[in-house]
Amino acid sequence: MASWRHLSRASIRIAKMSFHVRQKRAMSHIAIGQDGLLVTHPADIRYLSGFTGSAGALVLHGKRSTLFTDGRYTAQAKAEAKGTKVVIVPKGVLGAASAAAAAAGLKHCGFDASLTTVAALEAMRKAVPAGVRRSFFQASGPVVAGLREVKDDAEIEIMRRAALVGCRLFDHMLEFIHAGLTEMAIAAELEYAARLAGAEAMSFETIVASGERSSLPHGRATGSKLPKRGFLTMDFGVVVDGYCSDMTRTVHLGKATQEEFDVYHAVLEAQEAAVAAISEGVMAGDVDEAARSVLRRAKLDKYFTHSTGHGVGLEIHEGPRVAAEQKQVLKRGMVITVEPGVYIPGKFGVRIEDMVLVTGSAGEVLTPSVKAWTQL
Ligand code: ZN
Ligand code: ZN
Repeated sequence: MASWRHLSRASIRIAKMSFHVRQKRAMSHIAIGQDGLLVTHPADIRYLSGFTGSAGALVLHGKRSTLFTDGRYTAQAKAEAKGTKVVIVPKGVLGAASAAAAAAGLKHCGFDASLTTVAALEAMRKAVPAGVRRSFFQASGPVVAGLREVKDDAEIEIMRRAALVGCRLFDHMLEFIHAGLTEMAIAAELEYAARLAGAEAMSFETIVASGERSSLPHGRATGSKLPKRGFLTMDFGVVVDGYCSDMTRTVHLGKATQEEFDVYHAVLEAQEAAVAAISEGVMAGDVDEAARSVLRRAKLDKYFTHSTGHGVGLEIHEGPRVAAEQKQVLKRGMVITVEPGVYIPGKFGVRIEDMVLVTGSAGEVLTPSVKAWTQL
């Protein structure tokens, strides 16, 4: 383990210029008639300004941007949000941002309706002059979420590193796991090693499911002990420089039955078929179908009870959805997961997941860890 403790290289700073480009692109995607955008979702604020605090509101207006946050973040906001004006307010960040947007002379300010509660919208409206209260804020759709689906070069570089930390953790776990250990002990080791490897956090609650529990797609680690014979599924991810990794490997301990062997290899074939289907211009639903059709042929599709994958980035689940009949077209620079699984109730389950970067004509697997089907 010591060999990769210091692997994580110094943070790559996303250039101030990148934030200007992103802000400009966000402004070019707002609805016709709108001349500003109020951004309140922390991951969107980070994407557009670099600010990583949990409380903030960002107003884009013309070529300018202003970040409103509170006194806890005075030094941090100024250090992180370079190129964006920072205003510290004692309380009511959302109200202050809304009032400033109106005072700046905007006619109609967009906001993401899918990320704004009714209460928040009321607070926003209350803060603007009564005469424009009804008309000032207008839903603009998920503008920033849409932009975030396609990663730029700096983001891809960070995501490569995050994925690689995940791969090395899996290599480490292959040496660590043995029959008799509890799922909890495995999750603890994985998360401890992740921290040492430079992870800021885990991307989500680590999934460790062994034996019959591997048939639970989202089995959280319990006190159950690893069986001498049976599957172990580990689904985990790390956060590096704000970006999430996500991968799943299923390994088998001891001698497998023919059914276990067949199911594992059907899932592997489905996973590889879906990865092979990825390229710029392909519909997300076609990638899902590539996996699903392999499992259909093996008469296992009824046990594949979730979608094939999802976008990943600053958040663990982002667009695009890689699910049945999704018409969204894959673009170069998207990072998606490919994670078919088969879960046979009361018996066992298998899932294999990679992160894949959409390039021009193919998908580049960012998590090339061995798909060790057996630990032996
Ligand atoms: Zn996962
Ligand atoms: Zn996933």
